[in-house]
Amino acid sequence: MRIAIDLDGVLADTMSHLCIWIGEKYGIALAKEEIIEWDYNFGPNTITSEVLRAFKNESFISSLVATKGSKNAVRDIRTEHRILIATSRPLSTQIETEKWVFKHYGAIKIVFVREKQKIDADVLVDDNLESVLLFAKIRGHSILFEQPWNQDHGYIENFVESGKIACCSEWSELPRMLRKMSRRP
Ligand SMILES: [Mg+2]
Repeated sequence: MRIAIDLDGVLADTMSHLCIWIGEKYGIALAKEEIIEWDYNFGPNTITSEVLRAFKNESFISSLVATKGSKNAVRDIRTEHRILIATSRPLSTQIETEKWVFKHYGAIKIVFVREKQKIDADVLVDDNLESVLLFAKIRGHSILFEQPWNQDHGYIENFVESGKIACCSEWSELPRMLRKMSRRP
């Protein structure tokens, strides 16, 4: 299968890094667990616009940490499937993003795209509820990578029940979930 994998909140632990950035910049102690919606307002700004500000800083991107277990799982998944990275980061981050991906995962194609349902893939792995839902509606199957900001599953409930969306909280679960999906007729 062709698997499209999201970068921020899936391959990269961007939110933990952004909490440190916010602490240094504004003196506000914020934990990833507190960010229960993507557009969370932490006072001086919202997460959505602060992350765009942080992406303008090369060292913010280069020092991002890969999500726990992701390197081994990506290696494992690549033995059976074709993968590509699908990110909605601004195109201005392209060079730093490519360097970061290569350093942590080796050579993987990266597509910069906001509307992930337009990607030619069989499965999307993403932490954005809307992207996961749209992809499942249009392309077939998605996997929601669980994070504090996507816990309101009411939005995708019918798709989870029908098996079009699966939920995953650890990278170590992904190779097995994808294997199961690929055997489904
Ligand atoms: Mg994401």
